[in-house]
Order: sequence, then structure tokens, then C-alpha cells
Amino acid sequence: MAILVTGGCGFIGSNFILDWFSSSNEKVINLDNLNYASNVSNLLSLKNNNNYFFIKGSINDSILLNSIFTKYKPRAVVHFAAETHVDRSINEPSIFIETNILGSFKLLEEVRFFWNKLSDEEKKSFRFLSVSTDEVYGSLGINQKAFTEKSKYFPNSPYSASKASSDNLVRSYFQTYKIPTIITRCSNNYGPYQFPEKLIPLVILNIINKKNIPLYGTGENIRDWIFVNDHCEALRLVLKNGAPGETYNIGGNEEHKNINVIKKICDIFSEINSLPIGTYYDLITYVKDRPGHDYRYAIDSSKLKKTAGWNPKNSFSNGLRKTVLWYLENNKWLDNITNESYLLEKRSNKK
Ligand code: NAD
Repeated sequence: MAILVTGGCGFIGSNFILDWFSSSNEKVINLDNLNYASNVSNLLSLKNNNNYFFIKGSINDSILLNSIFTKYKPRAVVHFAAETHVDRSINEPSIFIETNILGSFKLLEEVRFFWNKLSDEEKKSFRFLSVSTDEVYGSLGINQKAFTEKSKYFPNSPYSASKASSDNLVRSYFQTYKIPTIITRCSNNYGPYQFPEKLIPLVILNIINKKNIPLYGTGENIRDWIFVNDHCEALRLVLKNGAPGETYNIGGNEEHKNINVIKKICDIFSEINSLPIGTYYDLITYVKDRPGHDYRYAIDSSKLKKTAGWNPKNSFSNGLRKTVLWYLENNKWLDNITNESYLLEKRSNKK
């Protein structure tokens, strides 16, 4: 038996694969085209694992996809591959349409051809799990209730619009072809292996390098935060217990203003370096807000809790501390990214 993971060299995909092998020996085929945010070295510990197969390639490549399905006959697909940075989607939206919409479509088409040839039993047990985001729901006011799976889509950036489009396609393949698809929508992840253009690793990197910490607008925007391992556990449970055609929200139950997230990280550094609280606050630099910046995301994950008995294990304080320590202990990983030597590793295209 095998599962196909797309985008497994990115932040969440890497954590998912590492987490997978900590409790299973089932084969994982990782298809990733190694864009700027990916990092093959995240999975170096699997170098000698005979159940791990890395294939460099794109979800937009139907011929490659066809050969992968024919060769490995996966029982499930966990679809992470995407362009993911909202700021980039504002500056250069076309790759987001190419990957997140057309790529998802190409992948779904190959799944359809493959799934049609399966036995009735195999058809029933097959799963296509698409990893999506709470950003498809748009923005909440301060007193509005958290998004549920029934909330309407109001995407505000090219990124969230492209993910909403992908979700619609995934849903339609269940409705039209009866392929057992499932969608998950998660809030903001943080943890090891996150590319330092996203808020938390960027703040950590800038504190380490004593550089200014850019903060959009007033810093009052609110996000729900989840430690990446809690997300990975939820995904494993959804793959096992989720019902075809359903959507499951995944959240950390940890809403925080951006300014407070940054201050918390500053405080952790002060503690670690035995300095007074507030020492690093001077690095915080307010910059012009980004266009269409959603004010607040909050997510109600009670459906998943009911379905799979899942609850996030890490509090924000606990997860954030672990994250800071991970980046400090893995300064080589961070150095490689900042001096871009990881790009050379990509070119060598090794497992
Ligand atoms: P990431 O940018 O770190 O990783 C994305 C991975 O996809 C990279 O390894 C990249 O090389 C790969 N990829 C991009 N285009 C590809 C293509 N055409 N073919 C094959 N691989 C391709 O992103 P992430 O933060 O790990 O997010 C993974 C998924 O989870 C995305 O679908 C994202 O929308 C979703 N998500 C992320 C968050 C979050 O907070 N990071 C929250 C909710 C949902």
C-alpha cells in the first residue's frame, strides 16, 4: 500500500511525511517540483528509508502523474502542493492560478482516470484529501462567530481565491464522479521547516540577525494559530475517519493579534538570553498595510473533534517556544536558506 503526497518538500508536507513515518511503514511517494519554498534537506533523515520515494516534478505534468499512478497505485492522495504566500499572490498572481487551480485540476483528472479502473472495493476505500485554508472564508469582524464548514466563501486575495477554486473543483469531483474526496481547511500553521517569509519564522530570523521586524498596518489583525504537528495529526485522522464529500475545519483555538505574536517571540528570546522583557521590541517597525489584508480569521473545528476525537495538543505558548528553539538549534538549515545554498541541493535532485 502507498499514499501519494504532493508538495511534500514544503513546510507542512515535510512535517506530514516525517510524522507519517513515526507511526507507519506504508510507502510515501512525494511529488514536488521544488519551488523556492521547498527544501529537500527537510527529509534527509529518510534517505535510507526504502518506503520513501521522492519524485521531482509538477502536478501540472499529466504524463508524469499518469506514470506515477500506474506504477505506485496509491490508495490515497494527500494534496499539499501549492503556491502559498499571500504577498507573492498580490504581486504575481499568475503562478497561483497555474499551480493552485490548473495543477489541482490536472491532478484530479489523473485521479479520475486511475480511480475509474479500480475495483469496487478499491474505489470505495480510495481517498483524495485536499489540504486547504481558512482564508477561503474571507475576513471576520471582532464579534463575529468563528467560521464553520457551512460558512460561505469570501476569498480576498489571489491566493485564497485560487484555493477556493481548487476546493470547488475537488468538491465537484465528488458530486459529479463520486470520487471519494475530502477537503480540510486549516488556520495559520507554525513550527519547524517553515520558509522564513511567513510571519513567525521571519520574526525569529530577524531577531537572530538583529534586523527590523516589519509589521503590517497597526498590527491589530487577528489570526488563529496551530502548531504544525497538530495539523498533521488531524490530517492523518481525517484520512482514516473522514467521510467522502465532507469538509473539515482544523484550528488551534488560539486567536492572537499579530503585534502580540511578535511580542511573544521577542519575550521568548529575552528569556533565553536572560534579558529584560521588551529588549527586542525596538526592532518592530510598522510598514504600510498590504492591500486586502483580512482583519480576522477564527475557525470552529468542532466537526472534526466530533468525527475523530481530535484536539490540538500544543498551546500557542508551548508551540511557539518549541519553534524558536528549533530554529536556534537548526541554524544550519536557516543559514542554508538565507545564503540560498539549499537551491544547489535542489538542483542535485537527490532523495
Ligand atoms: P509551502 O509553500 O511551504 O510548500 C508548498 C510545496 O508545494 C513546496 O514544496 C513546493 O515546491 C510545492 N509545489 C508548488 N508547486 C508545485 C507543483 N506545481 N507541483 C508539485 N509541487 C509543487 O506551503 P505549506 O505552508 O507547506 O502549505 C501546504 C498546503 O497547505 C498548501 O496547499 C496551503 O495552501 C495549505 N495551507 C497552509 C497553511 C499554512 O499556514 N502554511 C494553512 C492552511 C493551509
